[in-house]
Amino acid sequence: MSSYLAPLDEMNFLLNQVFSIQNSYEKIGDFSEFDEELYKAILEEAGKFAQNVLFPINRSGDEEGCQFDNGLVKTPQGFKEAYQEFCLTGWPSTSGDPEYGGQGLPKAIHVLVEEIMYSANTSFYLYSSLTNGAYQAIHAHGSDELKSLYLPPMLEGRWSGAMGLTESHAGSDLGIIKTKAIESEPGKYKISGTKIFITGGEQDMVENIVHLVLAKLPDAPEGPKGISLFLVPKIKVNADGSLGETNNVSCGSIEHKMGIKGSATCVMNFDEAEGYLIGEVNKGLFAMFTMMNLERLSIGIQGIGLAETSYQLSKSYALERTQGRNSQGQAAKIIEHTDIRRMLLSQRSYTEPSRALALFMGMQVDIQYHHPDQGERQKASQLMALLTPIAKAFFTDKGYEACNHGVQVLGGHGYIREWGLEQLVRDAKIAQIYEGTNGIQAQDLLVRKVCLDKQGLLSNLYQIIEEELKNDTRCSQAEVLNSALSQSLHDFKDTTEWLKDNFVQRGYEIQGCAVDYLHAAGHIICGWLWLKMLNNLNENVSDEFVDRKKLAAEFFTHQCFPLVKVFCEQIKSGYQSTSNARNDLI
Ligand SMILES: Cc1cc2nc3c(=O)[nH]c(=O)nc-3n(C[C@H](O)[C@H](O)[C@H](O)COP(=O)(O)OP(=O)(O)OC[C@H]3O[C@@H](n4cnc5c(N)ncnc54)[C@H](O)[C@@H]3O)c2cc1C
Repeated sequence: MSSYLAPLDEMNFLLNQVFSIQNSYEKIGDFSEFDEELYKAILEEAGKFAQNVLFPINRSGDEEGCQFDNGLVKTPQGFKEAYQEFCLTGWPSTSGDPEYGGQGLPKAIHVLVEEIMYSANTSFYLYSSLTNGAYQAIHAHGSDELKSLYLPPMLEGRWSGAMGLTESHAGSDLGIIKTKAIESEPGKYKISGTKIFITGGEQDMVENIVHLVLAKLPDAPEGPKGISLFLVPKIKVNADGSLGETNNVSCGSIEHKMGIKGSATCVMNFDEAEGYLIGEVNKGLFAMFTMMNLERLSIGIQGIGLAETSYQLSKSYALERTQGRNSQGQAAKIIEHTDIRRMLLSQRSYTEPSRALALFMGMQVDIQYHHPDQGERQKASQLMALLTPIAKAFFTDKGYEACNHGVQVLGGHGYIREWGLEQLVRDAKIAQIYEGTNGIQAQDLLVRKVCLDKQGLLSNLYQIIEEELKNDTRCSQAEVLNSALSQSLHDFKDTTEWLKDNFVQRGYEIQGCAVDYLHAAGHIICGWLWLKMLNNLNENVSDEFVDRKKLAAEFFTHQCFPLVKVFCEQIKSGYQSTSNARNDLI
């Protein structure tokens, strides 16, 4: 099987040419000691680690999976050693707060590192991704005592994090969870209940596992407004940070599933386990959303990472495989067939602007938490609110589609295990489901972020896109795309206003078009970012790089971008088609 190579040229182009990260961060003192050279070196090291350590155990991890024995979970061979190296080289702490031992690097760099790790071995990286999410929630909402006790070992990677929301009867609808919390003494609670599908709920690579668990206090209001968030360690922690006695937290079993087989998906039992409140009573969902928004971006990046691997593996196969004849009647490499070219370019069409959006969002997180100006912080936070559901759902839908294209490029060889493509499809599928299904993300976008929005969330995005439209174009491809984007943005705005006008009277029917609307928005954003990339192709990149970009941008403009019009028409003409029928006729 071919290997994976981190797309460092692409990443450095985005960092330095497209988003000029060093200039953009000039006003952010926290990052003033970092520069382009350091970012480049970090990405190179991440690439080496992913290529040499993680990718070689990706397929074996899939074939072996995790094993469950009497409450303990064994990760696949090689994971433990890889994890030790992962920690020794400092990857768990890249964007962590220096006060707790983090390296304080920008989130913008972290999102690129995440893509590289997900590309090479999604199952492995999920353990760290969930730890990072738990770290964020404790950092934002935990007491000083909890922060100083728990965050340093999490940043060292000695302790991992897990997120306990889902119960057998409560998935998308967390308002009906049954897990209970009873205050036993001031500041301490007894947590009882069973959580299912908990990623990394139990595993053998760390000394302790920090569970963030949603539970309800006895007098809590019904529904989502009665949920509180608790930190529940697998092993209790003494005041000096050393490990104490075990808590009443146990793993009942692990799931046998379609993909991400090296990632343990656990049933977790909490039996009067000792827990500590994070944030305020009954405001648990709010605190959890700190973690979930960043986790949603991270899961979106899972889609990008797997799409990139699919592109690389399928392209290298297409360059080698001879089958059929080319237009001159000679034996052809399959990359010469137009349908194969279509599938390869289609993968790039979405992966490259998605990577650009992930980086842009990483920058918004940095601005939101570190910029000295309150107005800038607020604008970044509003952009994140709008873009998070789009990134999560669009990146993972397109990531899954890319992996399917990858299998198709290889024909029958894509369907068998040897080449690794079928694993990518199975690993990519889950990203459309967890962290809130893509259907739920689409509703969040359409209902909360657009139709009920009072802050003008979309207007920030419109403004940024319109500024790009005013920039001089540098090539014919950019000129064509500029005009297509201007027309599509007009159609999208028009459809948005139509949806808002009709929402009050026909809210239920309109929710049937939420996924189409999210995909229209995703395409508009891809159009904006393709244009921004074309407008920033300058003397710092090679002629070959310029040609590659122009080719894929042209493909996007003609083969993908017209879909905005289709989505807009579908929304207006077909919005009632899912809502009017009786259940039994569906
Ligand atoms: C491998 C794996 C790992 C996971 N890791 C974790 C984890 O670490 N922690 C954790 O807490 N959970 C985890 N989950 C759970 C995951 O987040 C849930 O499976 C997901 O949120 C969906 O919930 P559900 O499975 O109960 O589906 P349901 O909520 O029953 O949804 C079924 C279908 O109905 C749709 N639907 C539901 N409600 C609505 C609505 N109001 N409007 C429109 N459509 C709706 C959904 O989109 C979906 O298509 C994991 C799941 C898996 C499979």
